[in-house]
Amino acid sequence: MNNQYLNKIYQELELKNGHEVEFLQAVKEFFYGIEKYLLKNNEIEKQGIIERLVAPNRIITFQVPWVDDFGKVCVNTGYRVQFNNAIGPYKGGLRFHPSVNQSIMKFLGFEQTFKNSLTGLALGGAKGGSDFDPKNKSDQEIYRFCQSFMMELYRHIGHNVDIPAGDIGVTAKEIGYLYGTYKKITNEVTGVLTGKGLSYGGSLVRKEATGYGLCYFTLEGLKYYFNEDFNGKKVIVSGSGNVAIYTALKVVELGGIVVAMSDSNGYIYEPKGLDINHIVEIKENNKGRIKEYLNKYPKTIFNDSCFDIWQNPCDIALPCATQNELDLKSAQALIKNGCIAVCEGANMPSTIEAVNYFLENKIFYGPAKAANAGGVATSGIEMMQNSMRQSFSFDQVDNMLKDIMKEIFNNSLNAAKEMGNELDLVVGANVAAFKKISEAMLAQGV
Ligand code: NDP
Repeated sequence: MNNQYLNKIYQELELKNGHEVEFLQAVKEFFYGIEKYLLKNNEIEKQGIIERLVAPNRIITFQVPWVDDFGKVCVNTGYRVQFNNAIGPYKGGLRFHPSVNQSIMKFLGFEQTFKNSLTGLALGGAKGGSDFDPKNKSDQEIYRFCQSFMMELYRHIGHNVDIPAGDIGVTAKEIGYLYGTYKKITNEVTGVLTGKGLSYGGSLVRKEATGYGLCYFTLEGLKYYFNEDFNGKKVIVSGSGNVAIYTALKVVELGGIVVAMSDSNGYIYEPKGLDINHIVEIKENNKGRIKEYLNKYPKTIFNDSCFDIWQNPCDIALPCATQNELDLKSAQALIKNGCIAVCEGANMPSTIEAVNYFLENKIFYGPAKAANAGGVATSGIEMMQNSMRQSFSFDQVDNMLKDIMKEIFNNSLNAAKEMGNELDLVVGANVAAFKKISEAMLAQGV
């Protein structure tokens, strides 16, 4: 970083939060993105906008005690990081995964602030969750955990205050338990959570939205940069959870060939194309492992290193699993094998070194905060329906999602062009998002 103002803030953050590596990584990427833009805006420094942006407005940490099926009391840690509400109420998912800690919550809340700004909706940024692992837990255990989690969280959220949703480990089932508990405590029926079931205020397309949105965004870039589309393109989609599955289904619908998918135990590879409906059966219906695909298709290649999925040839890579799943070695392999586009479904899946390599090699790189914003955008549409006490049809929501993703691509592209490099969507997305947030912060005073 050449900017002294940003450098000083980063050094102070490093001194205070040196152990929060994921958070520092997200801040570094953001600083890279806005560095040039800041040269033209003295007021930002005078008003301490960046210092105020990198500090969460509020971090809530709490104990979540619950009783397992054997009568044993277990204790997890719960978090809600309310990062920034300059442009609207806090909004962002809940993640239940053993790796959850304050650094991961802060990086996700920070990213969410910019992502939400890009959607064009009036939504601030937040994130929350717990180090609870829903895997191998009975429904009753998950229910008791969710009840205990909400017993504390309910004080801090509200449909005009903070509206959580799902993320890793938080599916419609967990959202249902959390919502039911909130309703019991408050006696209020509001759209306080999104990702709800259709029978009690959920929106059509919400479960598909992040994956579909990622494909709509990628398609815009393929058209703009290469005059191309998904037709006949070989695509690697990492992960096999909510985002990955709906990404893969949409890629196939758009004429692409999904050649590899993964879970944390390994990846499967089939150059002629995977049977995505079978993966849906394994993962969504039976909660199985990706390796079980070989029971039906024994000739498919299985490799037990999920990180090596990027070593296989493809035209387009769509990382949809988790943070830092794609490093420099993976980026080098992708480009060597002719990959022309990498768009991120997961949050911060590429390391800083990998991102730099993509930018140096001038491929189409769609950063997460722009490319995966379709999920939260559709959550915004769910909130709209809840307020209106109305439901939109599948096509209505899908068309709104398409428009929003197109708009996000165009706004990021235009900002990138303004900053002098139309291929640098890291700069484009960060500048487009930051402009709106900083304007709102400047207008509202200290
Ligand atoms: P899920 O829990 O539904 O799925 C996560 C998937 O990733 C699982 O298949 C998991 O496998 C797999 N996985 C985890 N670590 C690795 C790894 N190192 N290599 C390969 N696979 C791995 O989560 P989501 O699909 O909801 O979220 C995925 C990503 O997308 C996250 O980064 C999330 O923050 C982001 N995101 C999600 C949104 C949403 O609407 N859900 C919105 C925007 C972003 P296993 O079962 O073995 O753990």
